[in-house]
Amino acid sequence: MCPTPLPATNGTNGHTNGTNGNSSYVGIDITEGPPVQNGRERNPYAPVQDFLSNISKFKVIESTLREGEQFANAYFTREKKIEIAKALDDFGADYIELTSPAASEESRRDCEAICKLGLKSKILTHIRCNMSDAKLAVETGVDGVDVVIGTSSFLMKDSHGKDMAYIEKTAIEVIEFVKSKGIEVRFSSEDSFRSDLVDLLRLYKAVDKVGVHRVGVADTVGCATPRQVFDLVRTLRGVVSCDIETHFHNDTGCAIANAYCALEAGATHIDTSVLGIGERNGITTLGGLMARMIVADRDYVVGKYKLEKIKEIEELVAEAVAVNIPFNNPITGFCAFTHKAGIHAKAILANPSTYEIINPADFGINRYIHFASRLTGWNAIKSRAQQLNIAMTDAQYKECTAQIKLLADIRPIAIDDADSIIHAFHRNVIAGKANPGSSVYLPNMTEQEKKKLAGITAEEKNLPEKRQLEETVAQETATEQVLKKAKTNGVTA
Ligand SMILES: [Zn+2]
Repeated sequence: MCPTPLPATNGTNGHTNGTNGNSSYVGIDITEGPPVQNGRERNPYAPVQDFLSNISKFKVIESTLREGEQFANAYFTREKKIEIAKALDDFGADYIELTSPAASEESRRDCEAICKLGLKSKILTHIRCNMSDAKLAVETGVDGVDVVIGTSSFLMKDSHGKDMAYIEKTAIEVIEFVKSKGIEVRFSSEDSFRSDLVDLLRLYKAVDKVGVHRVGVADTVGCATPRQVFDLVRTLRGVVSCDIETHFHNDTGCAIANAYCALEAGATHIDTSVLGIGERNGITTLGGLMARMIVADRDYVVGKYKLEKIKEIEELVAEAVAVNIPFNNPITGFCAFTHKAGIHAKAILANPSTYEIINPADFGINRYIHFASRLTGWNAIKSRAQQLNIAMTDAQYKECTAQIKLLADIRPIAIDDADSIIHAFHRNVIAGKANPGSSVYLPNMTEQEKKKLAGITAEEKNLPEKRQLEETVAQETATEQVLKKAKTNGVTA
């Protein structure tokens, strides 16, 4: 898409101004007769839809090759950038954002090289709000330019030292220049949530008036809460007619929730990076956003993005920046679809939706029943035995499960351990042993573990007698107390 200049329509993904293609909303005629919407009679009992919400028609601005380059471990060669850009394009990212060509000569050449790939994703680059960066950017062949400037009092005082009047004048100059080249332009404030709201809205209104395609809201320090995001974006939605892009850092763990709330409030574009890599602990993760959005509108997400590519894109980027995929990562964390507790496993085996909000198959991933633990249940063991082509009665599965739980109390057990217990138990069943669990052990048990097992087994054996003894003592004590009380009250037995 790079070499083709786009018509300079005002925002809105090629639709109309404002609400991301919500031009179908024609309002409700309240003058006379029944209310009509889109030519059809409106059901007066239907819930009122929030027509500003964009959870069913958002776009992703993938910034692994811009924000992600600011991650502490990141150093991308041109080959690696191209590999990542192609993977994101294949996934279906609407936009791919690249480091400013003003950052370094190699960055400029990388930007040109990616623009020449002819990807379906639109290519953006991210620049400071000044004419020299803008001139450099438009010459690289990008589809759009993302302009940014700090607007919080902290940044105006201690970073660039410019006031709002200067920012507005320069922003308009840069926007008009980029637009004159027939490519998209976005104007974003930095640290939006710590900027003066009146100043911010005035600035956005001014850039909207000169035809900027998108305005950007950025939680640069990760301080915003979902409610604050909703308030600001909804307010902004009422002030500008162009699209609204949002960018959330994850310092306080709200990046995905904030992105979702922004869409609910009328934002149209969300910035992401693979695994969230970026400054400090990064931004909204691409995979995490997909997990959130598939729950909100499965048809839109599945129809638009190749979700089964998420895992390999994350592995590609994780390797490039030398990190592991976090265990608790949505979708691809190693245990994201692992069910462990016996009651969970039982329900999952009957109907996976009992304990899952996302179907792992949508992401090309399998769910896993973790049966090798002391929390396991006989349904999980039965399912595992069947995978091993072992058939027993339900009573035998239950006894085998009891043996696995007993051994799992001695030490943590692996899948192989649980499998060998099932096999050994089954061999004893076939051999016709009366108590098939009696001589089933963990492979490679140490002397200490055997001693521990003997202790637990003996204790379990004595358990019924011990319980009986305790009950008798308790009963005797109670009788003695009654007698004592009766004597104190002057009553003789
Ligand atoms: Zn950022």
